[in-house]
Formats: sequence, structure tokens, C-alpha cells
Amino acid sequence: MKTFTIAPTQRIEFDRELIASLPSSGPRYTSYPTADRFHNGFRQPEYLQTLETVLNGNRKPVSLYLHIPFCNTICYYCGCNKIITKDKSRADAYLDYLEKEFALLAPHLGGRHPLAQLHFGGGTPTFLSDGQLERVFSLIARHFELVPDGEYSIEIDPRKVSRDNVHHLGRLGFNRMSVGIQDFDPKVQAAVNRIQSVEETRTVIDAAREAGFKSVSVDLIYGLPHQSVESIKPTLETVLSLDPDRLALYHYAHLPHIFKPQRRIDTAVVPSSEEKLDILQYAVHLLDEKGYVFIGMDHFAKPEDELAKALAEGRLQRNFQGYSTHADCDLIAVGVSAIGKVGHTYSQNEKDLEAYYAALDEGRLPVLRGYTLNDDDILRRELIQDLMCRFELRFADYETAAGRPFAEYFAAEMPELGNLAEQGLIELEEGGLRVTPKGRFVIRNIAMVFDYHLRHRETTAKYSQTV
Ligand code: SF4
Repeated sequence: MKTFTIAPTQRIEFDRELIASLPSSGPRYTSYPTADRFHNGFRQPEYLQTLETVLNGNRKPVSLYLHIPFCNTICYYCGCNKIITKDKSRADAYLDYLEKEFALLAPHLGGRHPLAQLHFGGGTPTFLSDGQLERVFSLIARHFELVPDGEYSIEIDPRKVSRDNVHHLGRLGFNRMSVGIQDFDPKVQAAVNRIQSVEETRTVIDAAREAGFKSVSVDLIYGLPHQSVESIKPTLETVLSLDPDRLALYHYAHLPHIFKPQRRIDTAVVPSSEEKLDILQYAVHLLDEKGYVFIGMDHFAKPEDELAKALAEGRLQRNFQGYSTHADCDLIAVGVSAIGKVGHTYSQNEKDLEAYYAALDEGRLPVLRGYTLNDDDILRRELIQDLMCRFELRFADYETAAGRPFAEYFAAEMPELGNLAEQGLIELEEGGLRVTPKGRFVIRNIAMVFDYHLRHRETTAKYSQTV
């Protein structure tokens, strides 16, 4: 049993010079190893064998991720895997294929497992009509047992969602939502092709509260075209007036050579690195002043929110959707491009809709690629998770798995830990390390020290910027 002594009120420190001096790109560690390590030697047979080994013969609670790839219009900043269409009938066809995928999975799940967590992501999950959402829910209920204390969340694009739609989501069983906002400034919205009023956003959030949603999270992006400290002030004021329980502040990485839609953004009006740091610094100070707790990696929450409580009590978890309070469950993923995690494996479905449909038409699960963790990966995954969620390590906790003293097993990392300590990012103590308030803000730079694959350059991924 690990003991952690995180001070719940510990603040972060925004050390601008330090942030500017660190490598500016790195993995987000929603998984370790990161998805660029997945390979196509892991397909249906490996996945089925994992399911049989891990889930058959028990009634372990599980998590389910369901991907809806469709969006009505394109946001130019977006790097997600999505399909732009206004044709709702495409969703009907997609649901037929989800049904096929569930049917192929079912015999290997070993019965109806309780569903501890459910997440609808996209694309735009609310592209689906009320009737289509009902169909998906009954499909889920056929294969999993919905439980009263389950954490059931959905990503919402408020532009097409009414008060009645939100109440319908509540009746279906959703109890958490994350609402995409990004920026309320009309000039920024026009430049990224996402026109969204304060009123339609407020309607959705108010309706979520009426419908009994336990937590409302909002997503903002800094670094978008035309943004400046002055321009973001009204957006932040308005967002705070909406009183979200959680808030995510993501960095926009302008990479038009990788993401085609970003070519429609005029590079000349994208803020410089200096301006982006100004915006971030302003936002972080404001959120701190308004009492939001820094959870880690872009995320803030009210002190009474369960994420903040989990952080204070050392129970925080990190998974593909970011931070979570639930114990680390096996994650089954369905839908095009969806990524799951079962036992010591990761698997990802076909990323292309045609290939996803073709696999299911042939009667096989659409597993495109995956990864089986070795003992070293398992150890490092646990350690990185502890760093990201608890901001401290007790070296003895890893020595049984390592089979030798921590400093010996991590001999290559120790000098770098010394450097981090000199920079004031961590405090190295007898038998452990603790991340300092200024280190918390750049936690992934600290986690990167323990990434074997990054160290040995066994990766070709282009990572997003750390801040
Ligand atoms: S940001 Fe969201 S709504 Fe916009 S294109 Fe991307 S997935 Fe679709």
C-alpha cells in the first residue's frame, strides 16, 4: 500500500523563464507507452486472447469508451479523427456497425460486467439524435450492467444541443459532461470556424444542473488565432460566470503541415510563443485567484469537486480521457479509431471508417494495432501515473517489481533527476522525490525522464507542446 502526503492546498508556481527554457514538446501520457509504440503485430487474435484471460470468469467492473466520429462542421484548429457531414443517416449506418462490433465482442467478455465508467467521445457524440442515443444506450445495456454510482460522461458541442436534449441525456444515465467552448471572442471564433454563442452554452450548462449532472467541465484553448491577454479576459470572465466544476485549458499547436484543416488558419495571426505564455500566465493566475485547484496537465477543478478531492487523497487516476477518480479499470473501446486498455495491453481500432466497416463485414473485430507491455513498461507506467497524479514517488514502492534498488534500476535516470532538482522542479529526498509547486506545471517534462522509449528514441511521434 502506497502512502502519499500531498498537501491538498499546495499551489502551483508559474515560473515563466523555466517554462520557456524546457523542451516544449512531449507526450501527454494518457497511456504509457504512448500510442506511437502500437504496432500491427497486435490484431484480433491477440486482443481476443487478452479479453479471455483478463475478463472471462469474473465480474470485474469495467470502463467503456465509445467513439462517434461525425461532426456537423469543421473547426480549423482540430486534429481529431472525425468525419464532417450533415447527413444524420450516416449515424444510423454507423450504429449498425457498432451493434456488429458489440456482438463480436460479447462472447469474449465472459458475461455482463458492471460498467463503472462510460465515456462518449468524438467527433461530436451529440451529432446523434435522441433516438439514436437511446439505441446506443440499449445496446450498451444489453452487454454491460449500468450501475447507480457509475461515472457516465459525454462530450458536448453546445451549438446543436437544446435544454430538452440535455434532460434526455440525464434520463439515459449520463451524469458528467464536458462542454467545448474554446473561446467566446467573435473574431477568434470566425478565424477557427466555430461560431458559438454564450447563450447556447449557458443553456446547456444550466440544463445539466437541472438534470442532476454531478460535474460539468468546460474546455478552452489558448494559442488560437487573434488571441491575446486582452482578448481572452472577457472569455474567462464569462466562463467563470458559468461556474464550471472543472476547467481544461489546452494548448493549440499550429502544425498545418500535419493537420490539413489548420491550413485554413492564417499563420500570421497565430500568437507567438511569448504571447501564448502571457495568455497562459494570465489564465493560470486568474483561476488560482478564483479558487480553482490545479489538478495537473491542463486541468483545474473546484476544491469541492471529486477530482480535487481525489488529488488531495492520493486517489487520482489518469486514462485516455485525462484525469479520473475511478480505480483503474480495464477499458473496452468500441467505434472507429477507439483505443482500449485491457490487462497489460493496449489496442486501437481501424482509424479509417471504410476499413472499420470492412473488418466488421468480414465478421472480425476491427483491431488495427496494439501493444503488449513488458515488465519494464508496466513498472514505468505505474511510476509515470504516480508522478502525474500524486506528484511524488517513494522509491521503495517500485523496488519489488524492479528486483533491485531504485537508484540501480534507474541508473540512467538518476543524473537527470539531479538536474531537475537543481532546476527546482523536484526535491530529491531520502528514498523519494517530491514535485515542487513550479515542477507541477511542467509535470510531463518530469515524467519524460522515465520514458524508456523516448530515451532510446524508439518513437517517431510528433508530440504536442508541453505548455
Ligand atoms: S473540435 Fe470537435 S466539433 Fe470541432 S471538428 Fe473537431 S471534433 Fe468536431
